[in-house]
Amino acid sequence: MADVKLSKLVKSFGNIEVIHGVDLQINSGEFTVFVGPSGCGKSTLLRLIAGLEEVTTGMVEIGGKDVTHLEAAGRGIAMVFQSYALYPHMTVEENLGFGLKMNGVDKSVIKEKVDHAAKILQLGDYMSRKPKALSGGQRQRVAIGRAIVRNPEVFLFDEPLSNLDAELRVEMRLEIGKLHQQLGNTMIYVTHDQVEAMTMADKIVVLRAGHVEQHGSPLELYTHPQNLFVAGFIGSPR
Ligand code: ADP
Ligand code: MG
Repeated sequence: MADVKLSKLVKSFGNIEVIHGVDLQINSGEFTVFVGPSGCGKSTLLRLIAGLEEVTTGMVEIGGKDVTHLEAAGRGIAMVFQSYALYPHMTVEENLGFGLKMNGVDKSVIKEKVDHAAKILQLGDYMSRKPKALSGGQRQRVAIGRAIVRNPEVFLFDEPLSNLDAELRVEMRLEIGKLHQQLGNTMIYVTHDQVEAMTMADKIVVLRAGHVEQHGSPLELYTHPQNLFVAGFIGSPR
């Protein structure tokens, strides 16, 4: 488990600044949801935490350690994307174990970790299937499973359910909630869906145009929105 701290974080692409000095403290073990309209910088912020984008200025700390200039692989994080990016020619089992295999992890250890992830995500019956023979929800579970086998301190999710139909989305929300209860890791979950934010989050971070408008529990944001933007976005009766 690890907390995540961002200090005066700035990100520019060329000479366009898109993240404008974000200060944020995300507590260890909490399920934090980044919410905000399209283009406000949710994915960029997540990628800066993951080490998939270079910080322009400011600092990223994970578990009390300055990781600002550390490459993604050394940060103890795993990221789940909207597009599942499974390997089509590999079975579910091979997809789950691939990252560990590439890192030279022992075969028996891989099997143990893959079986554990498959059990948590109820993928046991599908281990020998290829991705094309899976439903959307099953594919998304494999993508989450690939993160679980790496045993990360911090899970990052970037709109992982937006390709699924409404019914499946509700089911997967519950599953990710259960996963969080089971593993107890710090999880940061990006969505533009207010309902997802309100139902899944311990804490919500409302982003607007590259800065944080408000950070608090769903109840705090609902009952005490700092401004009309937050109220409108969270759906407060104000
Ligand atoms: P969100 O995930 O909230 O929709 P993004 O983080 O993807 O927003 O984008 C925030 C802003 O940064 C947008 O204006 C977007 O166009 C810009 N942006 C994101 N990635 C790049 C990039 N690689 N190069 C240039 N601009 C980018
Ligand atoms: Mg995005």
